Amino acid sequence: MSAAPLLTPRLADEAIQARVTCLPIESLPLAQCVGGTLRENIYGERDQPPFDRVSMDGIAIDTQGLQGGRARFELQGVQAAGAPPMRLQRPDMALEVMTGAVLPGGCDCVIPYEQIRIEQRTAILGPGVDTSAWHNVHRRGSDSRQGALLLEAGTLLRAPEIAVVASAGMPRVRVSSQPALMVISTGDELVEPGDPIADYQVRRSNAYAVAAALRRRGFVRVGDDHVPDDEQQLRDRLALHLKTHDVLILSGGVSMGKFDLVPRVLGELGVEEVFHHIAQRPGKPMWFGIGREGQSVFGLPGNPVSTLVCLARYVFPAIAAAMGARRQEPERLALMAPVSLKAPLTLFMPVCIVHDDWGRPWADPRPTNGSGDFLSLAGTDGFVELPPGPNTYIKGYVSNVYRW
Ligand code: AMP
Ligand code: MG
Repeated sequence: MSAAPLLTPRLADEAIQARVTCLPIESLPLAQCVGGTLRENIYGERDQPPFDRVSMDGIAIDTQGLQGGRARFELQGVQAAGAPPMRLQRPDMALEVMTGAVLPGGCDCVIPYEQIRIEQRTAILGPGVDTSAWHNVHRRGSDSRQGALLLEAGTLLRAPEIAVVASAGMPRVRVSSQPALMVISTGDELVEPGDPIADYQVRRSNAYAVAAALRRRGFVRVGDDHVPDDEQQLRDRLALHLKTHDVLILSGGVSMGKFDLVPRVLGELGVEEVFHHIAQRPGKPMWFGIGREGQSVFGLPGNPVSTLVCLARYVFPAIAAAMGARRQEPERLALMAPVSLKAPLTLFMPVCIVHDDWGRPWADPRPTNGSGDFLSLAGTDGFVELPPGPNTYIKGYVSNVYRW
């Protein structure tokens, strides 16, 4: 380890963000874009609503026709949604109108069926009906104007944003390409679930957890490999993966042990080290570098709690940045119980997010038996980040939260 002071998590994060390379853009059919990051601005195709839109099923009238206390209107016809606009013939008449229809010409108010009675082609208003002008009419352009900026490049496309793109009349949209991700576990002790296992071996659980976290976030190009602690094999396999992937996520082999070969081998393969070690617990040995073609390479420590913490704290935001996403501020929650720090390092404390009787969310600390105790993580939601300084963080302290 170098004698230079260790990077804080924030500086490590900034160093990563400064170095990740942007993924290419592709044009995809809208139905395939959910979870993607928009890489173009979206402008209004038309005013929204594009016409004075009826917002209740009922009758449309001209409020001029109410003069003299008129409450009876002869029904002229029906204006259905999707039909070209009709026109009211006289102010003592009304048109039946359906939600989503164009408000007929000459009308300026819609009265819902619930507030009228219809007798022999005449609509009779009930008592106390609201007949103010433009009642139950969603006025043209009241939500936005033609040509207005609706969504900016960098927006994450979820259901509401997809609706906006569709409303702009776009069958395809430019989004970031899905990154090709390779999850690589290292270690001679690791055995695949399902294979026979000796007392001195352990199951290869990290790679499954990392791949699961990535898939849960919508990444579909997720490869998976395992490499023993052998320099030659490590070199060959990493060289291969560097050729075919945008992001390599390794677990294990980055600490001080005799068989922690990952940083050296990556260096030999031309991956430039950006940093090694962060002032944090767990996950202090984390390594990050950039390959010759701009590949991001994350060497996550192998201890399972460290692996998942570093993945959520650094790798997800890095991939989001590579996809051109706007930076999101972390979620913040108050601690539900005090937490003590035992070392001058940022502490990542697993938490469950719980709600009190008033519906307020809290981060409930769930300490583990160290960074090897991944069983304690089951059922937790993520972790809080507690920078060094206070010996104890009190209940109610508001800290950044990262979800698995
Ligand atoms: P390392 O970072 O390679 O020194 O590994 C630290 C600890 O994490 C060791 O106890 C490893 O056995 C364990 N470990 C490393 N990789 C994995 C993995 N993929 N699944 C489960 N445990 C692992
Ligand atoms: Mg190892």
